[in-house]
Amino acid sequence: MSSHKLRVVIDPGHGGQSSGAVGPSGLLEKDLNLKLALLLKDRLESKFQVFLTREEDVDIPLEERVKFAESKDADIFVSIHFNADALKNPNLNRTEIYFPFEESGPSKDLGETICEEFRNRFDIPCIGPIPSRYTVLRGKTPVKVLIECSYITNPEEEQKLVKEKRLEEISGIISDSLVKFGELGYCRYTGFEVRDEAITFTFSEEVSVDKIEVLVDEKEFRYFTVKGKEVALLREYLLGGKHLIEIKGKTLSGRGLPHVMEIIELEPKVEYFTASIFPYAGYQLLKIRAYDKHLNPIPEGVRLSVEKIEASVRAVRRGIYRPGELETIVEAKREISDKTGSFYILLKGVKDEIKLNFSIGNLDGRLSVENVPKRKTNITGFVYDEITREPLKGVLIEGEDFVTFSEEFGVFELERSKEEEKEKVVFKKDGYYDLERELSSETVDKIYMKPLYNGVLLNKRILVDIDNRDFLEPYSLKRSWEIAENLALLIKHAGGIPILTRNHPWQEIDDYAKVKRAVREGVDASLQISNSKLHVKDDFYVFYYERSEDSKKLAEDVSKVKLFRDDPKGSVLPYGNYFIIQLSGPRIAINSRGVFEKEIEGEDSASKFIALKIFVGLLEYYGFWGVYHREYDVDAELLSKADIYSEDFPIGIVSGNRVRLLFSRPDSKIVIAVKNGKRLLISKPLEGKCITLPDGN
Ligand SMILES: [Zn+2]
Repeated sequence: MSSHKLRVVIDPGHGGQSSGAVGPSGLLEKDLNLKLALLLKDRLESKFQVFLTREEDVDIPLEERVKFAESKDADIFVSIHFNADALKNPNLNRTEIYFPFEESGPSKDLGETICEEFRNRFDIPCIGPIPSRYTVLRGKTPVKVLIECSYITNPEEEQKLVKEKRLEEISGIISDSLVKFGELGYCRYTGFEVRDEAITFTFSEEVSVDKIEVLVDEKEFRYFTVKGKEVALLREYLLGGKHLIEIKGKTLSGRGLPHVMEIIELEPKVEYFTASIFPYAGYQLLKIRAYDKHLNPIPEGVRLSVEKIEASVRAVRRGIYRPGELETIVEAKREISDKTGSFYILLKGVKDEIKLNFSIGNLDGRLSVENVPKRKTNITGFVYDEITREPLKGVLIEGEDFVTFSEEFGVFELERSKEEEKEKVVFKKDGYYDLERELSSETVDKIYMKPLYNGVLLNKRILVDIDNRDFLEPYSLKRSWEIAENLALLIKHAGGIPILTRNHPWQEIDDYAKVKRAVREGVDASLQISNSKLHVKDDFYVFYYERSEDSKKLAEDVSKVKLFRDDPKGSVLPYGNYFIIQLSGPRIAINSRGVFEKEIEGEDSASKFIALKIFVGLLEYYGFWGVYHREYDVDAELLSKADIYSEDFPIGIVSGNRVRLLFSRPDSKIVIAVKNGKRLLISKPLEGKCITLPDGN
């Protein structure tokens, strides 16, 4: 390492149009960043080869700063910043050190060295090193840190920074840290190789078995060996499919081992299969499920191929199949295994026994399929999404005596005990309006289900977080939890997948763990809920990450939603707290403290109102427009006995004898859920009309 000079790229943040943070008397972050970077260059040049991403007052896109470092084949990338508090707290001042989102490695080591140096020599606290997903901390440069030197929104700090002495002090601390780190050198990860017996990962330094941790799909994995610079994971203990493999810890000499995170796909070794066949709507649904030697179902995404279909000797001899008929016997196939390791083949016209040769990975199988006749009285059919026309699997289908679920290709067969002409059948699925039909066993019906709000949220993963800040105050925590719960209910009702960052309001979870979870689960949008006291005064704030256009649009959509007459005044502001910056996709933070402080109708209504407002903004962001609201007078006795909401939005806001409801269609109904469990759907009266229970209920 010492035979050549390490290559360091210094990145003065912002520049040109992007001034970064602004001090109370107008000091600009971009200017400080550049001054400090130039001072650092002077100090470092005798020990390192130094490059600057900018030497003038120009803005450079973040990705280009990353590419610049890569093009210089840099060892170390240091991004220089000064901070601002988005909530304008003038007292806040500290140093913050960030490194890439990983758990061990040279970047973390350097971050620790810099932190230590700041703590020993600087007059304000230093926090970190904090794992982070800042754009400039991505890319191939092996060692990367970002330093927020201090808060220029603190008036005293701003006065100090105007003078050269403060910057000299900071550049001394950073350059000494880099020299210390550089003297020790660092370890690199050089790549992996999948071999027959093992997958090997290679580093630039020797590794010790006792100092590393290996994880496969986030679980500890013990079947590995270490030889010099190589770590080998034994394939015998790895199932087929996609795996997230992580290696972290320290090298033999105690330096940080780069945190390896690789997704590696392995061919599954299929050992067993089971097969079952169901009659459906005149078809035969053949389900094949495959397992490995541990009897675990094979992973999602494995391919099945059907090699040959032949009729049994019996069937051919009896002339049941005409020439060419066998080729068209397969109506539809699910050739890629699902989450349960299953494949489906929909066969038509199986009049007698047929034989089927297939293969899954290394396994060849042979199946004999016999016609299973449909029970005459059963109701059969197919169920589809009305808009996409895609078949729907997993629809709950309730007859008068029996229930069933639709299977692959949307096919269903509902048993029934009586042989009457018709039967009332109800179709239910998250994200769809319930559907009621009169069906008979005479026909094979095609059922189309209407998705809620055009299905814009269907299967979307929405992260709902309660800001850590709320933990400082039980009142704000409680309110935020209520909003989060209501939001989760609405998202789920629309067929979306709400992901709450806590399981209960008091669960302590730090921002790093929350971000890690969001990254792992792959979220489409993130909503951070906060009700902490602000240093600025308005009712309803929506914050967005300033470098994300999607986030800004979502923030504006939420802010614009007007639901009821007394809609709160709000503003949309750029924001950059740790949690928000680390995520991808549209992400906003909402502070509704002012709504609670002004609310006269009760806090519970305010929580529901805020959840509805955020949710409607989310629908509009994803392209569903036309939500409207109405208010109704309700008989006081009925209110005490029942929850009242619309079938579109399962939350109604009650104040006094009035109920406020949201609808998405002109023909939507009102639900009266009587507290003994009875659920009643009534047609929607005009605005202001009194809701009373229909006669006889
Ligand atoms: Zn900055």
